[in-house]
Amino acid sequence: MGSAAAFELSRRGVDVIGFDRFAPPHTFGSSHGDTRIIREAYFEGPVYVPMVQRAFELWRELERVSGTALLEQTGGLMIGVPGSELVEGARHSAQVHGLQYSMLSAGEIHARFPVLTPESGMVGVWEPRAGVLSPEACVVAQLEQARRRGAILRFDEPVSHWQTGDGDGDGDGDGDVSVFTGLNRYRAKQLVISAGAWAGSLLPGLRMPLRIERQVLHWFEPSGDAQSFGPTRCPIHLWQFDGDRFFYGFPDKGAGVKLAFHHGGETTTMDELRRDVAMAEVEEVRAAVRRFVPAADGRARASVVCLYTNTPDGHFWIDRHPERSNVLVASPCSGHGFKFAPVIGEIVADLVEGRKARFDLSLFRWR
Ligand SMILES: Cc1cc2nc3c(=O)[nH]c(=O)nc-3n(C[C@H](O)[C@H](O)[C@H](O)COP(=O)(O)OP(=O)(O)OC[C@H]3O[C@@H](n4cnc5c(N)ncnc54)[C@H](O)[C@@H]3O)c2cc1C
Repeated sequence: MGSAAAFELSRRGVDVIGFDRFAPPHTFGSSHGDTRIIREAYFEGPVYVPMVQRAFELWRELERVSGTALLEQTGGLMIGVPGSELVEGARHSAQVHGLQYSMLSAGEIHARFPVLTPESGMVGVWEPRAGVLSPEACVVAQLEQARRRGAILRFDEPVSHWQTGDGDGDGDGDGDVSVFTGLNRYRAKQLVISAGAWAGSLLPGLRMPLRIERQVLHWFEPSGDAQSFGPTRCPIHLWQFDGDRFFYGFPDKGAGVKLAFHHGGETTTMDELRRDVAMAEVEEVRAAVRRFVPAADGRARASVVCLYTNTPDGHFWIDRHPERSNVLVASPCSGHGFKFAPVIGEIVADLVEGRKARFDLSLFRWR
């Protein structure tokens, strides 16, 4: 979110200085692991659809200006039993927004994509526009383009705290913002906090409880024909199963077949986070692989820890600080934000420039 905001603000001619505690792209936060899903029939709510449509445009535009391939269209399947949140939510969003989609039976899914083996009674919402983003390349492209447009980017320089002055003497802290790192104090007109899982430490005293959830990504070798996992033959796929469990997978873009659970991870803190992955965790995901994508049940190649920063209702937090009008918050994204990064960058830039937001942000307010 920070890279996207830096890019969008700098291309509007705003003076930007950006800080990161590491040197992005890195593997310590929420934006690593080779691939991210982008999908349009958004089961989390129709309100996201216009935003993701704009994100599609902006990712393509970033590809053009950076000369880098970032998004590969594969189509997408949301699979579960009829009535499940995933299937009904995706269908609802598709209907509300008149999106192209079709309903497939378990047999039709398997006939069309032989690596997927839904259980009888499951159905799938097929949407042709979904695809795969390359998150590290996206972040690099945004940062390079920001830098070219004059943004100053300070890496390996954590922000320790910030404070606002009182511009007009009425005590509401609407003056310049001072940002403190171990090295320096910097002054700015406005501050955008997009610190992902660390956001809480830069927002002391605010009530919204953020839950850091440890998530593990796994890469498996196909046990059979590797070609059938290629991006032209295997779409992105999400599954809801056994009630409220979620699982998802990607085509193989060269590193193996990436599969993971969505939610269900342990709650942690940045001080206590366990970065190692236990064999039991690999076996737990393998059980789902055997059930739904058995052709990916080969050697486990790698497992990596990543973080969700969840708001209580699972929606984003994009808003001005409730007590400091020159400070904006533009993450946490509750484990589904990557696809929206450029549109969140655009929303942030609009807010910073005092423009009216072009999307319905009511779900994303401070609450
Ligand atoms: C396993 C996994 C799978 C996911 N899959 C998808 C998906 O398929 N599709 C999708 O759309 N989304 C997905 N998401 C969610 C998405 O990746 C995140 O919502 C998004 O990447 C969060 O971006 P962010 O900018 O908020 O956080 P981050 O990318 O973590 O960025 C926060 C940055 O702030 C920096 N920082 C923190 N504290 C400080 C400080 N004090 N000073 C300076 N810098 C600081 C950090 O170093 C970091 O670089 C997934 C997330 C995970 C973990």
